[in-house]
Amino acid sequence: MRRVWISLSGLTAGIALALLAGCQTVRTTEPGVVGVDRQQRMLISREEMDRGSAEAYQKIIQDAQKKGALNRNAAHVERVRRIVARLTPVTAAFRADAPRWRWEVNVLTSDEINAWCMAGGKVAVYTGLIDKLKITDDELAAVMGHEIAHALREHSREQASREAGQNMIISLGSALLGAPEVGQQVAQLATDVLFNRPHSRDDETEADRIGVELAARAGYDPRAAVSLWQKMGAQGGATPPQWLSTHPSPQTRTRDLQDYAQRVLPLYQAAVKR
Ligand SMILES: [Zn+2]
Repeated sequence: MRRVWISLSGLTAGIALALLAGCQTVRTTEPGVVGVDRQQRMLISREEMDRGSAEAYQKIIQDAQKKGALNRNAAHVERVRRIVARLTPVTAAFRADAPRWRWEVNVLTSDEINAWCMAGGKVAVYTGLIDKLKITDDELAAVMGHEIAHALREHSREQASREAGQNMIISLGSALLGAPEVGQQVAQLATDVLFNRPHSRDDETEADRIGVELAARAGYDPRAAVSLWQKMGAQGGATPPQWLSTHPSPQTRTRDLQDYAQRVLPLYQAAVKR
């Protein structure tokens, strides 16, 4: 994918310093019961990332519509939206603003076993995930909880920031540039990070832990995360889904999920009693 970057080489030292000053250390989420508590360094602003992601998402949805691959099965769409609608209110346990995000949920027809949630709550589920795994509601909630957790933690923004820093690029949206291409660049970056830059293992572990807590709080059995990832692993075969290959090793992941599913079990039991 072609990326449009602005080289730092032409900029003066003064401007470079101004850009560096824009780098902030943030804590995107509350630790929750699972205790995810890592500070993150951000170079790209949340507004820019959200705007870029919304633009990229809109394009993906439009393309799917043109190909007749958008929300073709009403039962799938209803099911996925119902599950996400139960998960979004409980995101408040990790960040107060998230329930009010402009959530969008769509189902794309594709054999790929995949699902994702872009910055700001833009969700897509592929039919391959639903059909090939014969997925249960609890398992679907596990996937959604995991993907939503990536968005809550703003892992894509963090990764994009890292990349921006490494490439001595910058400054998206800065008043120094203020060019109209900036929005386009962030949209490009959001797409690139989503499809071409897998999350790190640490990010995956964070998403797993927050994911089980979200599922439990929404009244879905958090232990389903274990069977879900085992089903995924069994589907791997000769060509595992690209994104799966970067996730933690199956043994490590299973142990961690079992452990954290137990920790949040009381939340699940309280939620189903209500
Ligand atoms: Zn993940």
